[in-house]
Amino acid sequence: IINGAKYAKLYDSRRFITNNLVNRLEEKLTSSKLEQFKINKIIENAIHWCLVNGFVLVPKSRKQEELMVVTYLPFTLFPTPFNKNHFEQVIDLQPHVNELINKISNNDDFMQKSFKNLTVIDNFLENLWCLYNKAKDEGYNQKINFSILRTDYMLHQGDEDISMKQVEINTIAAGFGYVSTKATMLHREILKWTENFDALKRLPHNEPVVKMAQGFAEAWRLYNVKNSIVLFLVLDIEINIADQRHLEYEIQKQEPLIEVHRCTLAELNKYGHLGEDKTLYFDDKEISIVYFRAGYDPSHFKSQVEWDTLYRIEISKAIKCPNIGTFLAGMKKIQESISIEENLEIFCKSNKNLLKSFFAEFFLLNTSENIEKVLENPENYVLKPQREGGGNNFYNQEIVSILNRIKSIETCLNGNVNGKKIMEDRYNKDFYIVMEYLRPLISHNYIISSKYQQKLYETGKQGTLEKKKITNELGVYGVLVKNGDEIVMNETCGYCLRSKLAEDNEAGVMCGSGALDSVYLV
Ligand code: ADP
Ligand code: MG
Ligand code: MG
Repeated sequence: IINGAKYAKLYDSRRFITNNLVNRLEEKLTSSKLEQFKINKIIENAIHWCLVNGFVLVPKSRKQEELMVVTYLPFTLFPTPFNKNHFEQVIDLQPHVNELINKISNNDDFMQKSFKNLTVIDNFLENLWCLYNKAKDEGYNQKINFSILRTDYMLHQGDEDISMKQVEINTIAAGFGYVSTKATMLHREILKWTENFDALKRLPHNEPVVKMAQGFAEAWRLYNVKNSIVLFLVLDIEINIADQRHLEYEIQKQEPLIEVHRCTLAELNKYGHLGEDKTLYFDDKEISIVYFRAGYDPSHFKSQVEWDTLYRIEISKAIKCPNIGTFLAGMKKIQESISIEENLEIFCKSNKNLLKSFFAEFFLLNTSENIEKVLENPENYVLKPQREGGGNNFYNQEIVSILNRIKSIETCLNGNVNGKKIMEDRYNKDFYIVMEYLRPLISHNYIISSKYQQKLYETGKQGTLEKKKITNELGVYGVLVKNGDEIVMNETCGYCLRSKLAEDNEAGVMCGSGALDSVYLV
């Protein structure tokens, strides 16, 4: 934590470095026609580099038969200056987070307490919760635990200091491991093309995809069946294919004996089966690891078939990345629970204060005082349901209208709402946790996205890029492999920096409104 005076100094140094890097480009942009020509070439070089090196996505509107069309992922033209201490703090913290999540996922008492009120009002959670309990009653058939996590942070500007605050911990389908690897490589190239050679040493080594693949290889060896396959559970229409495919290729590079297959939950139902000894098969091949890149949103469960398949996976001998307990341990409700000191203490003794220093303020809407507190200053809070994948949270006026509606429903029912599914989920106060609104430090950069570039070309304004105010979110990857109680691998494996326009509340990189970035340590 840095105090006010130090903060002012740090902010100045950040601004200086940002300007240094970005201004060089800006000078070129605004000077003679020839310079304009040069800068257009640099952007063209960068875009070609992305396309040729697989820094790509499949645009969202495409139908499945058009999957062959790709475009480059949105990126910032330069890496963004980031304070070295803050960066290293959270890089060093990740093994503690890996262990914390693992302990929570194995503590059934704590899970029961945390989810008690929630499962009766949230259909999706209720289904997951039933499955968690059914699988527990059935007895677990796999003691190897394998998880790939990504803890997201913002460098939050408080009234008196700035500090890293955890936004959330992703325990399922934590993506961008490969594309972050590439974002750093792209920035290295751009710095060379713009003759910023001195800047190169300030970009930390970043190859999350390599350690993730190592996690797969370790888990696969522990499973110890020679011809067993790794199954990537995916969506029927996937736009982030490069990220997933390159993880697959990296796994095979490290352990050529591993075959990786991909299918949807419905396909696994159709072409797979569960043997009597609880071995899981796909296309008659034994599955050692099921890796979830689907199954975290209600829309991924079109019918009972998907739920039945998930259950079969859960009770099978296959290693799940993640298992359902780990998935649930990443829910926002758990974040709220462990923000209470006595709860955190159950899991951490010596590192309790360290972990807690990264937590923002959380509370529930369980009292009218809490509801009024949020209504008085809605701009200071975010309302979060138990969902993943972005675009699910509520801000400002949305919060006001939801809370007013909740209040009016409660008044007309005379407060008699406990435990009964009598209204739409989103108008139930137990549906949400409240989180303090974080105000990340602002930097400046250029965002290059195919959507924006297209607009410039259409209006004949190519090359007239504007420097924008951006904020960013730093994701830190962790890999944990455990064999029973024995820790086989517990590591930080790199980071992901996503930037968005400062004025936006949320921005999905996959929708083109956010951009991949990398850090320039100052
Ligand atoms: P998800 O699992 O859907 O990604 P997040 O908690 O990460 O849920 O929220 C999505 C986005 O909303 C974040 O990437 C961030 O941009 C924004 N956001 C979330 N929590 C906060 C917060 N406390 N303050 C400011 N912005 C937030
Ligand atoms: Mg998430
Ligand atoms: Mg998120």
